[in-house]
Amino acid sequence: MKHGASWGRYPTVEQDTIPLYWRDQPLPDKPSMLAYGQGRSYGDVCLNDGAVILPTANLQRFIQFDSDKGILRAEAGVTLAQILSLVMPKGWFLAVTPGTKFVSLGGAVANDVHGKNHHRAGSFGCHVSAFELLRSDGQRLLCSPEQNEDWFKATIGGLGLTGLISWVEIKLKPITSFHIDQQVCCFANLEEFLALNDVMERDWEYTVAWIDCLAKGRKLGRGLYMAGNHADDKELAIKTIDEPALTMPVDAPGFLLNRYTVKSFNTLYYQKPRKHVSNVHYDSYFYPLDKIAHWNRMYGKRGFFQYQCVIPMAKSQHALSQILQAIAKSGQASFLSVVKKFGENLPPGLLSFPRPGITLAMDMANRGDKTLRLLDQLDEITMQNNGAVYPAKDARMSGLAYKSYYPEWQTFSQYIDPKFSSSFWRRVTSSTGQQ
Ligand SMILES: Cc1cc2nc3c(=O)[nH]c(=O)nc-3n(C[C@H](O)[C@H](O)[C@H](O)COP(=O)(O)OP(=O)(O)OC[C@H]3O[C@@H](n4cnc5c(N)ncnc54)[C@H](O)[C@@H]3O)c2cc1C
Repeated sequence: MKHGASWGRYPTVEQDTIPLYWRDQPLPDKPSMLAYGQGRSYGDVCLNDGAVILPTANLQRFIQFDSDKGILRAEAGVTLAQILSLVMPKGWFLAVTPGTKFVSLGGAVANDVHGKNHHRAGSFGCHVSAFELLRSDGQRLLCSPEQNEDWFKATIGGLGLTGLISWVEIKLKPITSFHIDQQVCCFANLEEFLALNDVMERDWEYTVAWIDCLAKGRKLGRGLYMAGNHADDKELAIKTIDEPALTMPVDAPGFLLNRYTVKSFNTLYYQKPRKHVSNVHYDSYFYPLDKIAHWNRMYGKRGFFQYQCVIPMAKSQHALSQILQAIAKSGQASFLSVVKKFGENLPPGLLSFPRPGITLAMDMANRGDKTLRLLDQLDEITMQNNGAVYPAKDARMSGLAYKSYYPEWQTFSQYIDPKFSSSFWRRVTSSTGQQ
């Protein structure tokens, strides 16, 4: 067995690896397996401690591309970066993209990922027209909104538990430029963010805000709002950027990240004079973190957690204030804290995370029990306010919390392949339900 971990580098597990090479090959005969894309999930949804993972990186062939209609069929290991390189010069873009392009198609479907245009486009799964699901008994199910509809819904956002997705067909969106027209503005607190967002999302396709997690009192929730639209300058001839420009060479020592360094960073970031309107390359706009390979090493060997929750609109201001206050009080600073409104578009998946409300995502260095206690406290707030936490970013929520966020988990269970499992699923559905 080999040592394994995901993007957050916590937890670490011991698992066997059996790479897949061909989409028509049968699955190995193992009692517990799990597909593994690019391991860009932060916690244990892509890990299978004591059992087998099936890396899909070699399933990287394009199958069909209709460049008139913008419909692409590709093997599930193809990454979003590879798709962009193929389709952008032909005037197409991903209908929904997460904050990194180094994820696989299968991973994007299994977590039903979301992007900065959720208020307009919904989640990734809303743009999936079909996929093939391979079960451990050899059955191949063609799934679409019309065919095997229940399997379609269970597999989108199904955390890889229904079997292996061998290929996926997606609908793309037309663009006429590689550039994004961007507008950046400041807001002084959460109330201002909500008011600003109401206005901005009418005219802007992509909206997201960075929040200063350490600001307190009247400045609680201050931040920068970043809106974007695809430009119309007809520049499609620029080369796409596939390789990171920089690499984090070693693990950062723990002392580098403390409340003072983060506070200085946040204050500088907030006060940095900004051009309010600009025209930027799509790569800088959508994937700023992809420019630094292995940026996750910044948090040192103990790794880090990401906490991403969504809170229904009516309760969002109150709950987010409580969350930000708890973080500021704990002194456990977060470099990257992002807020965004999810729209009313309901996701196709039975267990999809996105739902109407405000989502807040933040990274936190792993400082052991102290951090775990804080995250439990945040879960209490999220639960009391009928919110939910994103499994793709989670490594520690209790079974109790999971079941309250995803009451459909029992309905979903009937679709789980008997030979598929994950560390995440065992953790949140263990018999005590509490871990
Ligand atoms: C910098 C960064 C930014 C991010 N930004 C966002 C964001 O904006 N929005 C968002 O939603 N997420 C975001 N994420 C999370 C990331 O998009 C998801 O975790 C995504 O699912 C990872 O894809 P992957 O290919 O790495 O899959 P993995 O992490 O390897 O696996 C994820 C899940 O997919 C399953 N899976 C993978 N391939 C298959 C397959 N072929 N068949 C069946 N199941 C499969 C796995 O079993 C696992 O359950 C971000 C992550 C990073 C590191």
